[in-house]
Amino acid sequence: MKSTKYGLTSLRKQFPTDRACIEFMFDAMHGRKCSCGGSYSLMKNGERKQRTFQCSMCRNKISPTAGTIFHKSDTPLVLWFHALMVFSNAKSGMSASALARDLEVTYKTAWRMLTLIRKGLKQSEDVLHGDVELDSGYIGGTAKQKEWKRNKSTVFAAVQRGGEMRAEVVRDGGAKAHKNFLWKNVSTIDTRLITDKTNKLDNVAIGYDRHSVDHSRGEYVRGDIHVNNVETFWSHVKRSIKGTHKAVSPKHLDGYINAFVWHYNNRHSDSERFASLLGVLMQPAN
Ligand SMILES: [Zn+2]
Repeated sequence: MKSTKYGLTSLRKQFPTDRACIEFMFDAMHGRKCSCGGSYSLMKNGERKQRTFQCSMCRNKISPTAGTIFHKSDTPLVLWFHALMVFSNAKSGMSASALARDLEVTYKTAWRMLTLIRKGLKQSEDVLHGDVELDSGYIGGTAKQKEWKRNKSTVFAAVQRGGEMRAEVVRDGGAKAHKNFLWKNVSTIDTRLITDKTNKLDNVAIGYDRHSVDHSRGEYVRGDIHVNNVETFWSHVKRSIKGTHKAVSPKHLDGYINAFVWHYNNRHSDSERFASLLGVLMQPAN
């Protein structure tokens, strides 16, 4: 059976040098053959700062990092790729201080790398269907006890059982926010919408086959009606933020939530998750 792991051994084998990293990026995004009949190769002295390929005939230049998070960075690509591998495997999140130690870079550099990686993880716009659980959570806060409560944010999450998750930090947990999140992420067709008995959904989940459990009355499961998959996600997120990041400010919560959702949606194979991360981050951002 083919290994689904992807750790330091695989990384060193696939990406031993900066040159291997940049050539991988070029080959994935472009072809060596130019339309003029010539062929592209990495320019001399192009390995570190320039990272530029040039056509042998028309002399056209292409930089495969242009528009990506790697472009204006002095950090060598091997360290970037190492950070991606570590991030990809860290299901409870990766702290900037731990990454700074692993890569022997400054805390500021590590923090910037992780922030850029999280920013690149946009959630899919495909709607969920089938059995979909939807629930809201109350997440985050800073280390200062006094500020803890008012710095918490409301987050909505929807999980398609056996499928993907969507989650979003919202300004408030009102009916309008519920409507926006629900309509954007969950199909009305072929869907059983499973929720808590919140009245915020009563005038919003119209057109949905909605089933709910009444948490306020201590009812958590009725047959297969429950939101346990979302609850499990909330406790994972809360535990991870407390254990790994200590505290997350509301300003950065979006990025952390995107990362947890991405880990959930790519939970089956370490190697596929790493490949997916690399694939996303190689695309120039618009
Ligand atoms: Zn050419």
